Amino acid sequence: MVYLRDRTEIEAIRASAQLVARTLEMLSREVKPGVTTAELDRLAESFIRDHDARPAFKGYRGFPASICPSVNEEVVHSIPGPRRLKSGDIIGIDVGVEQGGYFGDAAFTFAVGEVNEEAKRLLQVTREALMCGIEQAHAGRRIGDISFAIQSHAEKHGFSVVRELLGHGIGRAMHEEPQVPNFGPPDRGPRLMAGQVLAIEPMVNVGRAEVMTQSDGWTVVTRDGSLSAHFEHTVAVGIDGPEILSGSQLW
Ligand code: MG
Repeated sequence: MVYLRDRTEIEAIRASAQLVARTLEMLSREVKPGVTTAELDRLAESFIRDHDARPAFKGYRGFPASICPSVNEEVVHSIPGPRRLKSGDIIGIDVGVEQGGYFGDAAFTFAVGEVNEEAKRLLQVTREALMCGIEQAHAGRRIGDISFAIQSHAEKHGFSVVRELLGHGIGRAMHEEPQVPNFGPPDRGPRLMAGQVLAIEPMVNVGRAEVMTQSDGWTVVTRDGSLSAHFEHTVAVGIDGPEILSGSQLW
């Protein structure tokens, strides 16, 4: 079931997505060498709760924390813990919020201290790939147009996109239909309609596309150990084009 949201509902989703954006802005000032991912999680959880909202990831299918902080070869779904960031790391932080029954979801990958040229290029290209996908969020186009735009941009720069994990509809639940793959041919899949709200989220690897889940049952890593980046926005599909609901100064 694909939901079409009216203006009131889109504004409610925007409120949650904006709190996600503010949380990522706050975390951007805390990401530095020496901080642990558990400390970032605690800061994010208090920040979200202080704004009368709930961290949507906490308890989701048993997930124990409020953010997913994925370092270097970790792709997504990492559990916060005692790992200390060091200069040269990259860390993707995925945040979800529920407020008043509506959900927002976004992710940003940060450089910790000084990172090498390859990592810089990965962050840049993944972020651009997300924007290429978002540009296709026009009513009348198809999901495959988003997928194709993301894949082409990442591969043009010699990187690969993860196949197993997908973007998704979002609104009254964190994951709704349709699924939004980050790869595939254009002009395929369901047609986009005004009022649909999507979480578009490319995961891009320096090396091969294959990933695997670690023994904690959550953390997804690249199979070849190469660096991976993740950027995500909550986006409303409009007649005249996309409306990014999780935008902030960070971007
Ligand atoms: Mg998501």
